[in-house]
Amino acid sequence: MIGFIENSGGGNDTPNVDRPKGYLVDLIESIFKQGGYLQTEMQLDHRPEQAAMALSVASSLESDQPLLFEAGTGVGKSLAYLVPGIIHSINSERPFIISSHTISLQEQIREKDLKICRKLFTKVPELRRYGAFKTALMVGKGNYCCSTRLGNALKDAQSSKQAELFKNDEKADLVRIATWSATTKNGVIQELSPAPLPDVWDAVNADSSTCSRKNCDPATCFYQRARKQLLSANCVIVNHSLLFSLINAGMQPEGDVRGILLADDFVVLDEAHRIPAIATDHFGTHVSSFAVDRALKRIYNQRTNRGSLRRHGQAWDQDAVTNAIDAAHEFFSYLGDTFLLKKPIQRIHKPDFCDNILTGPLKEVAERLGALIQKSDDERAQDELRDHRRRILSYRDAINGFITFAEEDHVQWLERGGKKGQIITLRSAPLDVAPYLRKHVFQRGTAAVLTSATLSDGNHMHAFQETVGGQVAETEIVYSPFNYIR
Ligand code: SF4
Repeated sequence: MIGFIENSGGGNDTPNVDRPKGYLVDLIESIFKQGGYLQTEMQLDHRPEQAAMALSVASSLESDQPLLFEAGTGVGKSLAYLVPGIIHSINSERPFIISSHTISLQEQIREKDLKICRKLFTKVPELRRYGAFKTALMVGKGNYCCSTRLGNALKDAQSSKQAELFKNDEKADLVRIATWSATTKNGVIQELSPAPLPDVWDAVNADSSTCSRKNCDPATCFYQRARKQLLSANCVIVNHSLLFSLINAGMQPEGDVRGILLADDFVVLDEAHRIPAIATDHFGTHVSSFAVDRALKRIYNQRTNRGSLRRHGQAWDQDAVTNAIDAAHEFFSYLGDTFLLKKPIQRIHKPDFCDNILTGPLKEVAERLGALIQKSDDERAQDELRDHRRRILSYRDAINGFITFAEEDHVQWLERGGKKGQIITLRSAPLDVAPYLRKHVFQRGTAAVLTSATLSDGNHMHAFQETVGGQVAETEIVYSPFNYIR
């Protein structure tokens, strides 16, 4: 589920030595103090608030303790965490994760702040060993083009037997993707303009259980290249949404290994005021009528006579899918007509609020797929069917859990959305996200620094601490250096 777009910098060849406790804090002091390296070598203004933050971050990283730090506008907080973070990463050989909410902050970090860090480290002899730090931007696996799946899709599109798999505009899009993939450096969807057709990208992206790597050439696999570079990066930039979706998908280090996203990492979460909302969203359920219908029709669509079971299934297998599509239509229509006629959102208070007519047909589809996987001796077909089965089972479990109120500490509701209001979505979210964040962020045995310009009520952070379950964290506030009156 992970990958990265860009790698920069060389290696760090200087062997690491044990450093005395307080080494990082002392070094950061020499960089950020009045007359320090930032001022003398980079001609940057000395900002006492920035220096205070950098020292607190350094202390938190050295002691692996959590920190909530509010820094008013103009403090220059990115440098205040990047400089100690990079130095600590290289000294301790641990990955430094930087998570933000907005793309604009990610761009500022990549295009401006990391360049300042590199220049600073390169200019100052005492800091030179940190100048070769490596960075990576982590994006979801589904953002990568898979060269193996693309090759297979092209073969299918050209074969007379499989010609029905892709419509003409989809075939043209496949050819366009193939041309692009021959020259793109990173193979990520964000670099392909205009964006590919969704069904075509579904067929060629790397987020598939077909990805076993054993039959693939690592030299031509964008994802494998990215993964390798990611694992050797000092600074990994990610966004909150991907970070929490990976955490919720069980991608945290296992057993006693510390770390929030990667083994032995330490993390700074910028724009941290957005974390409660984003984490709440990711620790809940999200199943829409559109997604279920689409997943089933990719398996078999009776109207167009397309889908995986057109090739791999019998008539009775296809009928099971058609039956599930009808059941899904009936199920979601009932919810829309019963609960969402007058308002677009309706909270659900009790379990068994509707007949569970959908999970049976979904289970039947999963069983058919399971039987076909067993029978097939075509590895590609097996992988494709396994992908479908995994998705259908996850919908079945989520819908079942929603109807039975399986997660007692969650609030549940139905939503009507889409351009014409035709999409019905089952949603749930934890009533209190604090226990989840406590477990997945603050109790991972590593430093987690949460920062933003707005975490407090002006004086203290009790409310935010409670919301995120960060009572164990140190808190600190520095105000904006700007003179607003003038
Ligand atoms: S390892 Fe193979 S299947 Fe997986 S993304 Fe790379 S090329 Fe595709």
